[in-house]
Parts: sequence; structure tokens; C-alpha cells
Amino acid sequence: MPPLTMKEKISAAILLFALCLTIILVTAQAGQSGRVSANEVENPNQPSSLTSLAPNNQSSDSRTCALKPEKSRTTPPSQTTVAPSQISLSTFRQFGSPSIPVIGQLINPASFSSYTPRESIALAHPTNYGDRFLLDLYGQPAYHPPVVVLHETVGSAGSAINYFRTPHPLDSDQVSYHTLIKRDGEVVYLVPPYKRAFGAGDSVFVGASGKEAVKTHPNYPPSVNNFAYHISLETPPDGSHNGSRHSGYTMAQYQSLAWIVAKTGVPAPRITAHKVVDRSGQRQDPRSFDNSTFLRLLQAQPMTKEIVINCQPPSQSELINY
Ligand SMILES: [Zn+2]
Repeated sequence: MPPLTMKEKISAAILLFALCLTIILVTAQAGQSGRVSANEVENPNQPSSLTSLAPNNQSSDSRTCALKPEKSRTTPPSQTTVAPSQISLSTFRQFGSPSIPVIGQLINPASFSSYTPRESIALAHPTNYGDRFLLDLYGQPAYHPPVVVLHETVGSAGSAINYFRTPHPLDSDQVSYHTLIKRDGEVVYLVPPYKRAFGAGDSVFVGASGKEAVKTHPNYPPSVNNFAYHISLETPPDGSHNGSRHSGYTMAQYQSLAWIVAKTGVPAPRITAHKVVDRSGQRQDPRSFDNSTFLRLLQAQPMTKEIVINCQPPSQSELINY
């Protein structure tokens, strides 16, 4: 091969430089997309890395179920969390979901109620809620269709919200609802619907196909929490006691309750109360609840799927990593 001329040497150097530049750029781009995908599948227990995502970007991991509970724990429970920067109203309900037909419901849209409550967000501390599980403690399928469980706060809404927002490292202290309805009808979102709120301890829902409960903790009885959406009504001031009755709830609370329950798409036979599912013998809430008023108002609300209670199963690649 003859020696290269100066011109050929310069051309070769330029070509080599361009080739190196291309390799550097391609590598950098691959690294960047690698980081983005890592964010999309990483453990939601690490909120800091999610903060770079746009506030309304619902990454696939944030609504993903956990596979199964830990059989024994020697360390504090792993915390699941939702990055506050990702929280918006659409975290709690997705707007514009089409109405779903419900047997026996009014079918004339003109007859639907136009009631719309004030909504606010007070995200619970991540120690007070967890992921929904695909499998129970023993590795058996944990799926049941969603149920709505109604509660009352007994104390004021403010004290309940403060409690949920306070870290509780001990399992025995952890409690939460998904949503709370104040005396004036304001709907306060506390836990995203695709997460497991700790609303009922020892509990069983008796449905058309029998008893439904899921054991998710080695030291506690099975409960409905894995498939429940918990809603609590603020108790009137004369109900801050353990007695069996009080003066009841406001019409604004019943209207807001009907409004939000209709958005879960959960049919009436799967709407229940803490006192019904409780197996501890200690729960009697919600006391003084007017079921006929609630059902009448529920009939006047269009049923939708704006509140998605189920979490999304992990992808095949995520399952392999378990
Ligand atoms: Zn309760």
C-alpha cells in the first residue's frame, strides 16, 4: 500500500474524528434513555429519583401492584410512597372516564345530579399505607373485585388527617382511609386508590361467592384492605365518644359520598361498612348512617370508572426480578 498523501492523511483524520464524535453521541443518548427507563420501573420506595418526572406524568411503576407480602420481617416494613411532586387530582381520580351502565340506574342523563363537591389533597405519610398485592402471604392469588368500605372519623377531620400524615413506624399504629368527607361536604384525598389503605384490621367481606379477605401480614388476621376503597365521614361534634349513636351526617356529606362512590364504579352489593366487615367485634362505624338517603342520592349519580381501585400487574420483566 503506497504511503498516504498529506491530503489523504487530513481526510482520514477528519473521518476518524467524525466517527469518534458519532460514537460519543450515540453512547450518551443510550445512557440517557437507560436512566429514563430505570426511572419507569424502579422501586417506588425511592421517591427522590421520580422528582425529575413531570408533575402529571403517571409513570407505569406508580400504579403497579406488589407481588406478595413478606412472610417475616426483621427490619421495619419497606415503605411505599408516591412522590409529592407527582401528586395531582388525577392521582386520585381520572377525569372523563365514560359512564358505565348499571342495572336499575336512572338512564336519563338530564335526571342526574349536577352536585360537585370541593376537592382537596392531603397525602398520607407512606408508613400509613402500602401497595396492593397480587398474591397473599402464602402465594395464593389475592384478587377480589373492589369493595367500598364506609367509616366515620369519631374525632374531627383535622385530627384524623394529622394522624394519617404523621409517620408511624410501628405496624400496630398505622391506619388510613383513601378519602375523607368533611362536614361541609369537602372531599379530601389521602391515599391513591391503587394503593392499599389500612382502613380495616380483622375483617371479611361476605359476597355472592362467599367470604373474601386477604392475609397480607404475618402477625395480623386477614382483611379486606387489599381490595377495599375506604371512605370516612367526619363525625359530628356530639359523636366524639364510644356510644352507639350521634346526630348523624350532613346532607352535603351524603351528596359527596354518593358523588365519589359513583366514580368508583363499584356496584351497590359491594358497598359495605366497617361495622359489617369487622371481625374484631370492636367497630360500629359509621354510626347513625342513613342508608336510604345515601342510596337515593347514589342513584342520581352517573356511575363512572374515574377512581381506579385496582393496581396494574407487574410486567414480565419486573416479575423476573422478584
Ligand atoms: Zn372504621
